[in-house]
Amino acid sequence: MSQTLLLVDDEEAILRSLARLFRNQGYELLTATSAAEALHLLELNDVQVILSDQRMPVMTGVEMLSLVRERYPEIIRMILSGYSDITAISDAVNKGNIYKFLFKPWDNDLLLENIRDAFERYGLTQKGAQFSRIYENTVEGIVITDQNTAIQAVNPAFTTITGYAPHEVIGKTPALLKSDEHPPAFFQEMWATLHEKGKWTGEIWNRRKNGEKYPEWLNITEIRDAQGRISQYVGLFNDVTEHKRNEEQLRYQAYHDALTGLPNRLLFGENLELALGQAERSGQVVAVLLMDLDRFKFVNDTFGHDYGDKLLVMVAERLRSVIRKGDTLARMGGDEFTLLLPTIRESDDIVRVIKKILHEFTRPFTIEKNDFIVTVSIGASIYPQDGNTPETVLKNADSAMYKAKEDGRNNYAFFTATMNEQMKRRIIVENELHKAIEGGELEVYYQPKQRLADGVVVGMEALVRWNHPVRGLVSPSEFIPIAESTGQIVPLGKFVLEEACRRTAAWNQAGLGNLQVAVNFSAYQLRDGDLLEIISNALKQSDLMPHQLEAELTESLVMQDVEASIEELVQLKRLGVSIAIDDFGTGYSSLSYLKRLPVDTLKVDQSFVRDVVSDQQDAELVRAIIGMAHGFKLKVVAEGVESVEQLEFLRQNGCDIIQGYWLARPMPAGDFAAFLSTGRTPFNGDAGG
Ligand code: C2E
Ligand code: MG
Ligand code: MG
Repeated sequence: MSQTLLLVDDEEAILRSLARLFRNQGYELLTATSAAEALHLLELNDVQVILSDQRMPVMTGVEMLSLVRERYPEIIRMILSGYSDITAISDAVNKGNIYKFLFKPWDNDLLLENIRDAFERYGLTQKGAQFSRIYENTVEGIVITDQNTAIQAVNPAFTTITGYAPHEVIGKTPALLKSDEHPPAFFQEMWATLHEKGKWTGEIWNRRKNGEKYPEWLNITEIRDAQGRISQYVGLFNDVTEHKRNEEQLRYQAYHDALTGLPNRLLFGENLELALGQAERSGQVVAVLLMDLDRFKFVNDTFGHDYGDKLLVMVAERLRSVIRKGDTLARMGGDEFTLLLPTIRESDDIVRVIKKILHEFTRPFTIEKNDFIVTVSIGASIYPQDGNTPETVLKNADSAMYKAKEDGRNNYAFFTATMNEQMKRRIIVENELHKAIEGGELEVYYQPKQRLADGVVVGMEALVRWNHPVRGLVSPSEFIPIAESTGQIVPLGKFVLEEACRRTAAWNQAGLGNLQVAVNFSAYQLRDGDLLEIISNALKQSDLMPHQLEAELTESLVMQDVEASIEELVQLKRLGVSIAIDDFGTGYSSLSYLKRLPVDTLKVDQSFVRDVVSDQQDAELVRAIIGMAHGFKLKVVAEGVESVEQLEFLRQNGCDIIQGYWLARPMPAGDFAAFLSTGRTPFNGDAGG
């Protein structure tokens, strides 16, 4: 900031010698020979100090300076005058209109020193004014105490934050704000630091006048006097309640899943690590359950993400109802949940929890009046026996979960060492399957179906095979579930369908029969938007009549979401394609639904056929299924017929068609053509009807 000194005297000689004196002192100099001229200059310039003569024509120095005081109160005003004017001047000093007067003739050094002092004083009052503006207006609370910590002053922000007015605290000590959050040691340390370093900074919980506790960020500084003795303490503090709340919220968000409010992967990982540490010390056992919803993807893909989200929230709710204090239930992402059971006594405890969870999924989930049966597959892994790091425990729970899925979903499995091998296999299969689909390693086998009434082969089921270059023939039960979970089932299914249609049309045209080919479709294919187009293209390309194609859909797939299935089947039906329910009897069929489904055929699951001869109950069941199916005008196919006894039972009970090893095993297209023309298979020379 520049320092401007205004010199006023009606005698130009004096002005000149004063100007000479101040020339090299670093001031901006202004001179005026009259009060009027001086006032004019003040209007145009920023002046900090005025040194004026007293006796001047028209207006005296004192008169002028009282005007200056009114207009520019911050300017430091001084008179340089003869001794004879002392009365007028001392009066002005007393009224505060001028700061100092100096005598003519002057002593150069003394005058210089006084002017320096005047500028310094100007600076101080400016700072003071600035400081008091800050003190009054800042959002920080300020408290000033004497050396004994008795409060001398507080600013308005102090009152806003603490609720105490100045008169309620002045004379008392800041201890009146104390909460019971800190032990005495906390304050001892604070004082020790303060004495050692002259200041202390930290977070402290205090109590407002209304009793509410709040956190503040506090800075205390000692003020020492010229002799180095403590004279005051100044405390400066912020109310950090809001800040803390935001921080907590951020922390919460970082550790929780936004959709379900459950802990997320991060928090689960930390809790798991803690639990393992504790278990290591206490010798306890920790279990991790990994839960994956079965076929969640279809709900999501078919009904949209809103439905999917709602379902996940409901699932989280049900899982929550199962857990006990101390357990961590987390959503790891997607439809995958984990449960950490940190103190387990015996594996029966784990099974009990698992059973409870599975039980929670027996009731349907209702979303916008639609009922969904959603099941869950659970994998369990235990510390320390299945792994001793969080990563291995989790990974092994994951392997166990896959095992549960492979075992038919809605199921659970405990980790076993062989699962690691299976996991590796799974990943290998996934990679190799890709090549298989593109590289022509897939082949379609055909298994004939025979009408019992007249022994005619009325059709066959197309069953995919994988000719693995190293492993030989791989069974579909090994790779179909993997293809389903990766989406590879779509191109795979398309291949089987096109191949089956092409062959069947050719055989029919060659006069080998009037065959209907049954092709299996999995849920993923059914809910794939392009299925109808894929089917009608396959029919067109091959020239196969639509009714010569039968779509086999498993019962559990159809029952999973009946309303959606009805829609989809109706559309299939419109193409003229025939529809069969596969593996009938294993799902949760309800007869009332069956009536509403546009179905042509029921395929009785082979597990019932296997025991029809030995097990009375299965025999009753198959009889009932046949009767009921006929009631609904459906054809009944029995699959897995291996013996003549089974065949006889089925014939007597009115079963329409049989399929099974008794007649023929699934075989390559070439063998099947031979079978059609001779009624024999190359492997089963005396088979036939
Ligand atoms: P599925 O549709 O129930 O097919 C019948 C299964 O039973 C076939 O097993 C067949 O070889 C077997 N089988 C036939 N007769 C007998 C018998 O007398 N005794 C016994 N024990 N088994 C018999 P495969 O070929 O291993 O197929 C297994 C499953 O894989 C099929 O069950 C089907 O669900 C699925 N699958 C096969 N091919 C395809 C396909 O192209 N697409 C889809 N999505 N699934 C397929
Ligand atoms: Mg089938
Ligand atoms: Mg079947």
